[in-house]
Amino acid sequence: MFIESFKVDSPNVNYTDTEIHSVYSYETTELVHENKNGSYQWTVKPKTVQYEFKTDAHVPKLGVMLVGWGGNNGSTLTAGVIANREGISWATKDKVQQANYFGSLTQASSIRVGSFNGEEIYAPFKSLLPMVNPDDIVFGGWDISDMNLGDAMGRAKVLDIDLQRQLRPYMEHMVPLPGIYDADFIAANQGARANNLIKGTKKEQVQQLIKDIREFKENNKVERVVVLWTANTERYSNVVVGLNDTTDNLMASLERNESEISPSTLFGIACVLENVPFINGSPQNTFVPGLIELAISRNSLIGGDDFKSGQTKMKSALVDFLVGAGIKPTSIVSYNHLGNNDGMNLSAPQTFRSKEISKSNVVDDMVASNGILYEPGEHPDHVVVIKYVPYVGDSKRAMDEYTSEIFMGGKSTIVMHNTCEDSLLAAPIILDLVLLAELSTRIQLKAQDETKFHSFHPVATILSYLTKAPLVPPGTPVVNALSKQRAMLENIFRACVGLAPENNMILEYK
Ligand code: NAD
Repeated sequence: MFIESFKVDSPNVNYTDTEIHSVYSYETTELVHENKNGSYQWTVKPKTVQYEFKTDAHVPKLGVMLVGWGGNNGSTLTAGVIANREGISWATKDKVQQANYFGSLTQASSIRVGSFNGEEIYAPFKSLLPMVNPDDIVFGGWDISDMNLGDAMGRAKVLDIDLQRQLRPYMEHMVPLPGIYDADFIAANQGARANNLIKGTKKEQVQQLIKDIREFKENNKVERVVVLWTANTERYSNVVVGLNDTTDNLMASLERNESEISPSTLFGIACVLENVPFINGSPQNTFVPGLIELAISRNSLIGGDDFKSGQTKMKSALVDFLVGAGIKPTSIVSYNHLGNNDGMNLSAPQTFRSKEISKSNVVDDMVASNGILYEPGEHPDHVVVIKYVPYVGDSKRAMDEYTSEIFMGGKSTIVMHNTCEDSLLAAPIILDLVLLAELSTRIQLKAQDETKFHSFHPVATILSYLTKAPLVPPGTPVVNALSKQRAMLENIFRACVGLAPENNMILEYK
């Protein structure tokens, strides 16, 4: 059975008009590795830590500024939200289609809240905590191309033509602010669309971005802004001692107008200085150590990297299943071809390299979790190929071959072929990223030995379900397994309303 909303009635949770306060027992373990009578032994000690969570119940009016607003993702997301808000339906050759938010964790997935009369009861994910309604978001942003969003939607060739026709009047007047173009960081083939540029030194460009954010906030009367990079994939920037390895060095490099500071890092600097959450949806190393340090020192949320939309999402579910089943993946080969502007940009070796790196580490934690299957340091062969094929447009093809060793020397090969519009996968993920980033800035927590409430660590691991190469604070484990990432997010939100983590034990019926 499905219910639309619920409230928790417990001594551990208190809802007021302004906040939700919860007390939560975090069941965890402590490990001891000690020498007992000449041999080392592991001991696991269960322990309970009391936490308190405070969630600000005021849902702000949210503005979302996209870098690369006029691209396929940016225009598709903007169009999708307007279509939902306006209740637009359109004719396809199959049926009359209604706007929806399918593919969004927050808007289209559910959580189990318990059993009632022998039936499992589910509720929308978004009913856990007060969240911004996507229909209320005000969109804006930057692009190095000055094309208005109506034309950009046409250029993207993603949405049905009858839908585009209805959306055009809403989108024609939306024109991206000038972006920062640096031919050294994206493929040379992008030069042709770069006609809408912020001029000046890098420091002046950062100052302009800050001005843009402030004006957007003021003009649209929004209380909070989240900025998300969905612009072209850049090449990696070199991380060099004295250049960008510390905040001081990065800021000094900005003063010197150093060429190795990428446009995406400039956006990151502007957002952190302005205390605006900044998420990187592309694979490049926007978050150089100096920028991470700046975000930590200013407690300003940063998250990334690279949307986990299709092939990698499948990989982080499938390999988790195989390794969890005691089956040993030994070779993973992934081919992609796509024909949109992202594909054209990725046809240059240096931008492809960013994507290759981002896609390559995704099975590491799953492999490391099973020492029965893998020797220390052993790893499956893992190859990623991406080719640009203009004809297929945004309809990306992903072909994967997984070969695994099974019982008694047998081999199992699974082959998959996925065809679908890349931007229709990415747009709902962008929505989730901005909604969850905003919500997570409203949550404060405190462990029993802490005297003061604090926000989550500014490097937002809570967003990792949505990213291919989750950015984590220095010295923190990276979790790529999809089900673990989802459970982390859901269980933290459950804790905020005093609910136990979903343990799937269903002891009531055992
Ligand atoms: P796109 O090429 O259609 O859009 C990118 C836009 O960014 C373009 O309009 C371009 O003019 C603009 N741009 C480039 N540099 C800019 C800058 N410095 N400042 C402002 N604007 C700039 O690409 P897309 O299909 O929308 O994808 C966007 C990004 O998302 C790519 O990096 C892609 O790799 C990444 N991504 C996409 C998916 C997916 O499923 N679609 C998944 C993971 C990551």
